[in-house]
Amino acid sequence: MRFTFIKNIMSNKNQKYITLYLILFLIIINFIEMQKIQMVDLKSQYNKIKKEIDEAVINVIESTAFINGPEVKNFKTELERYLGVKHVIPCANGTDALQVAMMGLDLKEGDEIITTTFTFVATVEVIALLKLTPVLVDVDVDTFNINIEALKRAITPRTKAIVPVHLFGQCVAMKEIMAIAEEHNLYVIEDACQAIGADYIYEDGTRKKAGTIGHVGCTSFFPSKNLGCYGDGGAIFTNNDELAAKLRAVVNHGMVVRYYHDFVGVNSRLDSIQAAILKIKLKYLDAYAVARNKAASYYNEAFKNNPRLITPKTASYTTHVFHQYTLITKNIDRNKLQEFLNSKDIPAMIYYPVAMHMQKAYNDPRYKEGDFPVTEMLCRSVISLPMHTELDEEQLKYISDNLLEFVNNY
Ligand SMILES: *Cc1c(COP(=O)(O)O)cnc(C)c1O
Repeated sequence: MRFTFIKNIMSNKNQKYITLYLILFLIIINFIEMQKIQMVDLKSQYNKIKKEIDEAVINVIESTAFINGPEVKNFKTELERYLGVKHVIPCANGTDALQVAMMGLDLKEGDEIITTTFTFVATVEVIALLKLTPVLVDVDVDTFNINIEALKRAITPRTKAIVPVHLFGQCVAMKEIMAIAEEHNLYVIEDACQAIGADYIYEDGTRKKAGTIGHVGCTSFFPSKNLGCYGDGGAIFTNNDELAAKLRAVVNHGMVVRYYHDFVGVNSRLDSIQAAILKIKLKYLDAYAVARNKAASYYNEAFKNNPRLITPKTASYTTHVFHQYTLITKNIDRNKLQEFLNSKDIPAMIYYPVAMHMQKAYNDPRYKEGDFPVTEMLCRSVISLPMHTELDEEQLKYISDNLLEFVNNY
């Protein structure tokens, strides 16, 4: 009986419409269902620029100019224009950028280099690799960036350079840094791996891009960075012609004239395919920063005035490009919050759980637990939420609602 009924419907001349409605229904359901939330959604971002990217990649493959092809020069020129800097030296990754920058300056074994203990390991790693002496200082609780007073106290006659890290996407107080550097005759090597595109704003309103203020600046094109390629990549920036020439030689085996090696260098190149991808993504970098800021504003609004959450602050002298959106939690178990969010299919990360002075590799009798109270508090209590260019309001609401549910019922 039932079967004949269905059979009747199916044989009905409306069959065509039923099928059509069914397909339409499935399409709508597919759109209504929320996209799985990612910490960084590279797939959705790629899908929007797929045609341009695919074409550019195929062009490089067909040209077979894989190394130092025209795309590398094109991207370098475009990035110089975007940053308003005289020289961009592309290289293989952000860690190499830092290492090469330090190799290009005349630093000697034992020279002291000041940076923060609340950073990604690469900053400290390259200092140690070059047998320079890392001198660690604490950060400001408001900005997660180097504490200027602590920096001043750390300067000794052996200090040769400062490495300000523009952490999570906002600039360090560069005017103060440059004044201190000038007074003590120090190099400034900016670690702008997380802050490409951010502006430092002077009191008169003039702006400079992160990484272009110190003697040399470094960035990373790691896929999840704000300007990410589809593999590894990095770049060094400088306005100094002489230093630029040296850095160009350092990334190329210390070679100025072909097969004449003037000093010990490294092999650190940006692939042509990556450069072609970056040239396209650079066009969207400012729009990407707007999308990140929109997501950050949503979070800020959702969490404001919550006694258990401190939302990130942006200093008056900088724009923020929100490489990370990082909350400080108060009086809750941060790790339980992370577990709870993960159980709701919300990724959340701890940047960073262990400060540099507490790492086994950088264990140093000069430092002990308790020496850097702000950093140590942050390592215990920060949590970073999904932050990328493709977050929509539904996802942001889902993340915020769940986070608040945990926090408010703690
Ligand atoms: C990512 C990052 C680096 C290193 O960049 P890679 O391209 O991964 O080598 C260095 N410093 C900071 C602050 C970073 O975030």
